[in-house]
Amino acid sequence: MIAIRDVWRTYPMGPSRVDALGGVTFSVAAGDFVAICGPSGSGKSTLMNILGCLDRPTAGRYVLEGIEVETLDDDSLAGLRNRRIGFVFQTFNLLPRMSALRNVELPMIYSGLSREGRRRRALDALAAVGLTGRTEHRPSELSGGEQQRVAIARALVNRPAILLADEPTGNLDSKAGEEILGIFRDLVAGGATIVMVTHNPRIAEQARRVIQLVDGQIVSDSASPLTPALWSCGPYSTGGEGKGGGEPREFS
Ligand code: ADP
Repeated sequence: MIAIRDVWRTYPMGPSRVDALGGVTFSVAAGDFVAICGPSGSGKSTLMNILGCLDRPTAGRYVLEGIEVETLDDDSLAGLRNRRIGFVFQTFNLLPRMSALRNVELPMIYSGLSREGRRRRALDALAAVGLTGRTEHRPSELSGGEQQRVAIARALVNRPAILLADEPTGNLDSKAGEEILGIFRDLVAGGATIVMVTHNPRIAEQARRVIQLVDGQIVSDSASPLTPALWSCGPYSTGGEGKGGGEPREFS
């Protein structure tokens, strides 16, 4: 699904330079749930921007679904980002005057789907995050956790290859944060692939696999210490383990 090979990202700083990423290598298989964890300044945002096709490596290779990202021009890169990557941010970034349903329908405007098709798919996505009863609510009428669930539905509605989540629980209390992580595990059990960035090790260990970044380098890459307990008998377990090779979740 994703292969990152000896990726560097170097920023010029006056006469010298900063290696925000210094030769990072890892792969993410379809159906995996990976947390990238590290302290402030360790290179998490830089790596997330590269994974999300918002930025390019200074050196190294990034292959997404068989596509050599560094060979793409800017338009093709933007197209790949729009079609194949779903983003979830710490600040939910919903449009305040629109209902949950319309927020989720919005990314499908250029999808070629009929109005009815868009509506059906948005309702399915909202159902997948447990918001069937909230589709006509505006963001201000929803709790923080519910707003983040709308944002997740919006990120998934175009059926991306991968969901990138940047500190997705950072603005939530611990209970709402747990719920979001539970939804991620359910989505992974249904075949989604998720990469989550966080500075918080306790959040990171709720993923299946944790990659630790320090000073732009990977210092460990291993199964979460909570695995397999969390994945086989947790409150959100849906019976499947979301093994590799799964398709992006289907909503209809
Ligand atoms: P994190 O997200 O883990 O806090 P970042 O990826 O933002 O880390 O930053 C990694 C390193 O790269 C830091 O030392 C930061 O100062 C540096 N850096 C990030 N962006 C830039 C930039 N645009 N110009 C110069 N240095 C940068």
